[in-house]
Amino acid sequence: MNKMVHHAWTAAHSAELYGINDWGAGYFSVSDKGEILVTAQGESGPLKISMLDLVKDIKERGMDMPVLVRFENLLAQQIARLNNAFNNAIEQSGYKGKYRGVFPVKVNQQCHVIEEIAQVGAKYGHGLEAGSKPELIIALANLESPEACIVCNGYKDAEFIDLGLQACKMGYRVFFVIETPTELPIILERSRALGIKPLIGIRVKLASMVGGHWNATSGDRSIFGVTIAQLINLVDTLKAEGMLDCLRLLHYHLGSQIPNIRDIRTGVLEACQVYMDLVREGAPMGFLDLGGGLAVDYDGSKTNYVHSKNYTLDEYCADIVDVIMTTLDPNKIEHPTIITESGRATVAYSSVLLFNVLDVASFEPGPLPEVISPAEHPMIHNLKELLNTANVRNLQECYNDALFYRDELRELFKRGQVNLRSRSLSENLFLKVMQRLLVLAEDAPKEFSELPRLREQLSDIYYCNFSLFQSLPDIWAIDQIFPIAPIHRLDERPTRQAIIADITCDCDGKIDRFADMHNTRRTLPLHTLKENEEYYIGTFLVGAYQETLGDLHNLFGDTNVVSVRINEGGHYEFIHEIEGDSIADVLSYVEYNPQVMQDRFRRIAEQAVREGRITASERLDIMKAFSASMRGYTYYEK
Ligand SMILES: *Cc1c(COP(=O)(O)O)cnc(C)c1O
Repeated sequence: MNKMVHHAWTAAHSAELYGINDWGAGYFSVSDKGEILVTAQGESGPLKISMLDLVKDIKERGMDMPVLVRFENLLAQQIARLNNAFNNAIEQSGYKGKYRGVFPVKVNQQCHVIEEIAQVGAKYGHGLEAGSKPELIIALANLESPEACIVCNGYKDAEFIDLGLQACKMGYRVFFVIETPTELPIILERSRALGIKPLIGIRVKLASMVGGHWNATSGDRSIFGVTIAQLINLVDTLKAEGMLDCLRLLHYHLGSQIPNIRDIRTGVLEACQVYMDLVREGAPMGFLDLGGGLAVDYDGSKTNYVHSKNYTLDEYCADIVDVIMTTLDPNKIEHPTIITESGRATVAYSSVLLFNVLDVASFEPGPLPEVISPAEHPMIHNLKELLNTANVRNLQECYNDALFYRDELRELFKRGQVNLRSRSLSENLFLKVMQRLLVLAEDAPKEFSELPRLREQLSDIYYCNFSLFQSLPDIWAIDQIFPIAPIHRLDERPTRQAIIADITCDCDGKIDRFADMHNTRRTLPLHTLKENEEYYIGTFLVGAYQETLGDLHNLFGDTNVVSVRINEGGHYEFIHEIEGDSIADVLSYVEYNPQVMQDRFRRIAEQAVREGRITASERLDIMKAFSASMRGYTYYEK
């Protein structure tokens, strides 16, 4: 370790090490006691609670790790932040239109999340974006404010359109966004059949491309939206049908997590040109929908790196309002209502996945003899000699030599020239040399370019009680990075470097890339486990996309979920507690019938009784264990 070794470690060191104040957005911080705190805004100031206290309370109520905690306050605050930021930008610049955000249901469809968004959003006229029939049904059943928009994207069949049209008649503001030219005839036909005029939007493909992970959503070859040539055809069809007065909205979506503000400005600018020409064609318009893309700073670096963003929320809003005004004003075009479909930025902060550590594998050398017997192979003596000669100036050379000797000894073993004990001695010596090199290199990191790799090779594996595929699918699917940190003991120096493995038996079920201010780290500093004390790790900013994209790999089901509201005075209450899937639940998802399975197992047990392998009372015990397992949690229970 470095020079800090001699100083006492404080919670502030941990805050810096894990970047908590950088990605925490004011919601997460560290207490002097070394626990992660969650901060909600109360009427008379900030309200803070400790995540460790929360875990203890959850466990006392009989729920086990892993658990997903949703903080209702943080969701409410994000909705407020977004609306206030747009409203401020509108006020300060004298913009004549309004802001009407919509939350895309696909980003988190969970009932309690949508209910909270609808309830908190009502005062801002915040609406929902629906990409399918079930999502439209969710929107209709949750939105009451007549100001709130429902934006329907995605493929729409006649049934979808009928429902939306009838909702329009009731007073909902439902926009049908045309994604492909074939949708318009269905909308026109259903509208005539029901005698209800639709609110039509068109999603256009912009030429503007964006950086970041989702840049395939933008440009000519993006899957959704109509080309400019198709747009003109649609306008002509609407004119010919006498329905151009139904064209009210222009939509585009450049992709999620846009890290660079310049790309956002370029997109709005191009869209404004399209918008103005649609007005000039005679469409009433009135709504400009910029889609999603507002990014989350997952690594806290505030850069245009894929997991970050180089702009604040206020800058995002001010830039959008500014580009629209400066483009439309010289052309005397009225300011439209601005819609954005921010999903990720709205919900990411509100959920934290908590899990405990079950076990640790460390790569420590076994005990070594004081002296190596002269009878051992010369290469083994050479390895041992490296322990004496290694220093800061010959790190690379020693590293290469150690690898060479180890590999040679493995070859000799294969050919039967070195026996199992000598092979074991050589592996232990090799690890010992690598550890020596690591210590030397940590003190002089510039001298040795292989340091990150060495650190990774010698790092511990912390086996943790969760499934990556169920709870953090984007880490597996798209190399997403989420901030990860222990939620306690942050006033102690973390002395281990580790990667995290989940409990699926899949070698992809691991986390070995971690958020860092400068670039991604391959290992995470963690504390050594204490006897008889749980060690809890939090994965933060997981509220967007993770909950329903997850799958049942190895039949690990949904985790327990707890919704927490922090009240005035800093107390919290559990608003909802949802038990995760039982084993019977996940078995029925893959078409098993738990009752039939139990009957079948009982018959097999009865056979064993008849054949004298177990007694009747042993059969009772076995059946009890079987049905207790069926009812149990799919994760590791203590
Ligand atoms: C997924 C999606 C969004 C949400 O994007 P975020 O980056 O999460 O804000 C918005 N609009 C459309 C059309 C989408 O497909």
